[in-house]
Amino acid sequence: MNARSTEVTEQTRVLVVEDDRGIADSLVRGLRQAGYTVEGVRRGRDALAAPTPDVILLDLGLPDIDGVEVCRRLRARSDAAIIAVTARGEEADRVVALDEGADDYLVKPFGLAELLARIRAVLRRRRPVGPQVVRHGPLALDLRTRQVTVGDRTVALTPKEFSILECLTADPGRVVSRQQILERAWDAHWYGPTKVLDVHVAALRRKLGVPGLIETVYGHGFRLGELRPGPQHGAPS
Ligand code: CA
Repeated sequence: MNARSTEVTEQTRVLVVEDDRGIADSLVRGLRQAGYTVEGVRRGRDALAAPTPDVILLDLGLPDIDGVEVCRRLRARSDAAIIAVTARGEEADRVVALDEGADDYLVKPFGLAELLARIRAVLRRRRPVGPQVVRHGPLALDLRTRQVTVGDRTVALTPKEFSILECLTADPGRVVSRQQILERAWDAHWYGPTKVLDVHVAALRRKLGVPGLIETVYGHGFRLGELRPGPQHGAPS
C-alpha cells in the first residue's frame, strides 16, 4: 500500500464490464483488495442497466453489444470515468472509444498495479466541481451518483426518468418545454411521438410520490412545483 491508496474510500465505486470470467474475477478481487467497491457484469446491456459508478472498466469485446457503442451510451448518460480495455492489436477500437468518451484505455494483458494507477489518474482528473446535489423540497438529486432521494427514501429511477428530473431541477419553477426535455433525455433530434414523455413523467410522479412536485403546464411542458422541505414525504404512509 502506498500513500495514494488512502484516496480510496468505500464510496469510490468501480464497475467492471468483462465477459471473460477468469479476467473479471481477478479484476474484481484485486480492486476490492485495493479498497474499491466493485460490481462486475459480463454484458453490455447489464453495464447500461447498472447504477452509475465512479469508474467503469469497459472491455470493448463484449458478447451482446459492441463495446464502443456501450461506451457511447454510457458517456451520454453519466460522468463516470471510463477506461476502455482492448486486446492487443485493436488500436482502431481504442481510438474510437476515446473519441466516444472513454477517458483512458488499457491493453490486455495488464497488471493490477497499472490498472490502479490509471484509476487514480482518471479520478484525480474528475474531482467534482460545483454543487453535486440539487435539492427541491424533500427531493434531492445527486448528479454525480445519479441517486435520488425523497426525504429519507431512496427512489430507483430509470436513466430516462433521472434525465427528465435533472432537466426540471436545473431551473426550478421555470417551465421546461416538452421538446427541451425530449432533446435532453432522448436525443438531439427526436421526431417520434411525444406521448412517450407523458408515460415517463407518470412513472416518475408515481415513484417520487410527492403530489405537486411535477406540475403539468398544458400546451407547454412541465415544471417543478413549489414545495417546502418536510418529513411528511419521507416514506409512503
Ligand atoms: Ca471480451
